[in-house]
Amino acid sequence: MKTHICSHTAALAALLALGGALGSCGDDEPAPSDATGGVQPSPQTLFGPQITQIQIEVDYMPQAEPFVGSAGAINDVWQLFGDNARRMFAAAEPAKTITFPNELSQMQALDDVQGDSFSSSAILDIAQRHRDAQNTDSRATFYVVWLDGFFQSQDGQTRQDVLGVSIGDTGVIAMFKPVIDGAGSPALPGIARFVEQTTLIHEFGHAAGLVNRGVPLQSEHHDEENGAHCTNRDCVMFFANEGVADLRDFVTEFIASGDTVVFGDLCLEDMDALIER
Ligand SMILES: [Zn+2]
Ligand SMILES: [Zn+2]
Repeated sequence: MKTHICSHTAALAALLALGGALGSCGDDEPAPSDATGGVQPSPQTLFGPQITQIQIEVDYMPQAEPFVGSAGAINDVWQLFGDNARRMFAAAEPAKTITFPNELSQMQALDDVQGDSFSSSAILDIAQRHRDAQNTDSRATFYVVWLDGFFQSQDGQTRQDVLGVSIGDTGVIAMFKPVIDGAGSPALPGIARFVEQTTLIHEFGHAAGLVNRGVPLQSEHHDEENGAHCTNRDCVMFFANEGVADLRDFVTEFIASGDTVVFGDLCLEDMDALIER
């Protein structure tokens, strides 16, 4: 089982190299204090017994809609996010209900968003206008917006290599569709679908407090030099990429195995320990 997980996640990490770099996700941006969805629960609260519902809200710019439907032999590509989100909270008692859309009709198209690049504050402005799901004592919400453009870092640079960003502790995540689309290849046109879901899982990991960003470490696997990332190359929270290898093998194996959890054991242990504390 363990070797299985490793080979998949290693391949997934390699796969992400296609899109630029997982490591260049922009999650180090400081968070303005306004969370726009009410008070965002801390990781302690999120993983604790008080929160029984976790709700993901998805909006998108036209031309940048999320992939839905099948990917390879997987009928529903959102199964990847679902499997990983459920595993994150698998040890929770009482169990947490995790809801997320998996059809465009359950997501909202935004017709008032323009631009080619988006700073953290521009993304939070969008959330301010369009975030509907509110945090409550028992419900944690996250707002994810798919953008038809690129991330603009604090120094004003347009980052054509950034796939996604999780903005501080606001529960707001942005996905940069042109970068995700760029991960496709003529030989493997379906790859962008896997890259998109894996990016979402990575950013959701940050939003939930990984690595060492509210979810305390149980072992030394925090790659501090690179922000809130994991030193484990076989983990979705690993920052860098090692080049594209065995891509076709990965897709074949991934689809054949049905084992879709891309977090490494050490990140999983951190989350399990926070639940069981
Ligand atoms: Zn990251
Ligand atoms: Zn990890």
